[in-house]
Amino acid sequence: MKNKINAYNNVLELIGNTPLIKINNITSSFKGEYYAKVEAFNPGHSAKDRIAIHIIEEAERKGILNEDSTIIETTSGNTGFSIAMASIVKGYKCILAVSSKSSPDKIDMLRSMGAQVYVCPAHVSADDPRSYYEVAKRLHQETEGSIYINQYFNELNRQAHYLSTGPEIWEQTNGNITHLVACSGTGGTISGTAKYLKEQNPNVKVIGVDAFGSVLKKYHETREFDANEIYPYRIEGLGKNLIPGATDFDTIDKFIKVTDEESAHTAREVSGTEGLFVGYTSGAAMQAVKQLYAEGEFDANSRVVIIFPDHGSRYMSKIYSDEWMEAQGFLNAVKTEEKAEIQF
Ligand code: PMP
Repeated sequence: MKNKINAYNNVLELIGNTPLIKINNITSSFKGEYYAKVEAFNPGHSAKDRIAIHIIEEAERKGILNEDSTIIETTSGNTGFSIAMASIVKGYKCILAVSSKSSPDKIDMLRSMGAQVYVCPAHVSADDPRSYYEVAKRLHQETEGSIYINQYFNELNRQAHYLSTGPEIWEQTNGNITHLVACSGTGGTISGTAKYLKEQNPNVKVIGVDAFGSVLKKYHETREFDANEIYPYRIEGLGKNLIPGATDFDTIDKFIKVTDEESAHTAREVSGTEGLFVGYTSGAAMQAVKQLYAEGEFDANSRVVIIFPDHGSRYMSKIYSDEWMEAQGFLNAVKTEEKAEIQF
């Protein structure tokens, strides 16, 4: 009898089942317990692996995809990487329309994963023909046998998290969770996870993290789209200039906004004090927890789960670059002095 080889059949089998890791230092003076769901442990290094595999495999189940198919998507980078990875393993072509706000690291990575990438201007309205939404739609119409993932308006996005992230968190906490804090972009992560958790315990409080310059918080409060809320900001993947149909706003109790600057510093703090090398929006989520604590949201009984969506390696030329931080005006004089060159 042959020895059994203990191996995965392909990289896609590693998607999901990411660890929950206790935050020990940043919250050491806080009442309650704080745990990060670290999505960088997915093989594509972000939570978006979950939606890519779910949406592609649903299309396969419905018989929509065949070996000549092309998968098209709008993406700030992470979803694109996950789709490109799945396309390689499954043998599909992959075309991605990316915002010019995405870091050069992300764009290079997508091209390295065999995707055809179109970089579209970030600061145009969603219905502008140059926007990444419109470019993707046009490419879908022009490319025979293509499917458009459309993560902002595809309810399978939310369903992927309802079926995986939610149950994982419930099991990992043994149901001992009082709050979920998660960034909202398409809203798939937060509202899919929230739906599952609230079905288990309606008292779990769900708090969405939004960016200044985005419409989500105001929409949640008023159910009206307010274009006056929109202005450019730097965090990628968080907040939106439209109302994503993929978000179920009813599953979210409230939103909190965070700044580009504080989120960048907090991401560096997570890396430097917890040893978790995380992306910009993980810093945003941790920053939100700090603000919520200051507002009295948590007490000694709180068991807070914070979603850390991706890995820090995608932001080497942004938040982990002192030059970039300085150019944004994010480094104060003390930090610059610390950098002073040693004279011999
Ligand atoms: N963080 C990053 C880095 C992202 O790319 C995204 C997705 N746009 C999010 C957070 C938000 O996740 P969701 O789209 O599921 O709301």
